[in-house]
Amino acid sequence: SDHSLTYPVSPSEMDWASHYPAFVAKNETSGSVQSHPQESELAIQKIFRNVEIADIGCGFGGLLFALAPKFPETLLVGMEIRTSVTEFVQEKIRALRHQNLNTGLYQNVACLRANAMKFLPNFFAKGQLSKIFLCFPDPHFKTRKHKARIVSMTLNSEYAYVLRPGAIVYTITDVEDLHNWMVEHFVEHLSFERVGEQEQEEDMCVKIMTTETEEGKKVERNGGQKFVACFRRLEDPPWP
Ligand code: SAM
Repeated sequence: SDHSLTYPVSPSEMDWASHYPAFVAKNETSGSVQSHPQESELAIQKIFRNVEIADIGCGFGGLLFALAPKFPETLLVGMEIRTSVTEFVQEKIRALRHQNLNTGLYQNVACLRANAMKFLPNFFAKGQLSKIFLCFPDPHFKTRKHKARIVSMTLNSEYAYVLRPGAIVYTITDVEDLHNWMVEHFVEHLSFERVGEQEQEEDMCVKIMTTETEEGKKVERNGGQKFVACFRRLEDPPWP
């Protein structure tokens, strides 16, 4: 259950600084704040760059760890609902940062324990994200469980809100029925179009998500099939 989960009231209230200490803005508290020392102590530290890539249901973080060095200037976050799994990823981030002190790699990756089906706009501002990954989401096979799926018209509207025009949603699954469900719901949504096959094939992120996720590796070992689909966030139509 997620009763113990806490959420920021708004993206500006989120304490990102503790997750990305190397990206904390220096000298941010200047001028008036200096004359009120208690205030400056209380002010939450800000980072000078916003998170842009989110891996929803990141599991053990294979995708994040493969992407982080490829996008060293971009902040990536994994969102995972299971406490022990989140802690494992956070521990691995600490270890990788420590091993890579000389290059500064992995400073740009973090993992939050969160129910990504709830309050996504509390974490991310409108148009903040450039990529969302939905890799091997739980299939929830039974019809009465479909509402638990991570793709639905309602959730797609939340993804549309936090994504900027031109941003990409990446999906992969070994369950054909779920693949069809995801395609149907994104294509039907006015804020998204499906990315063409050639563009999809040329995208480095597609290759990485196919080979580097833990689930992707498992499917590979078992000789299973992987179904990939990507969707572009369209511009909002002009107001009438
Ligand atoms: N993406 C990883 C991969 O491809 O290897 C993990 C896939 S695993 C089948 C699905 C993951 O999503 C699990 O780790 C599960 O705990 C997580 N999850 C399920 N519902 C979630 C939710 N509402 N919010 C965040 N994570 C969720």
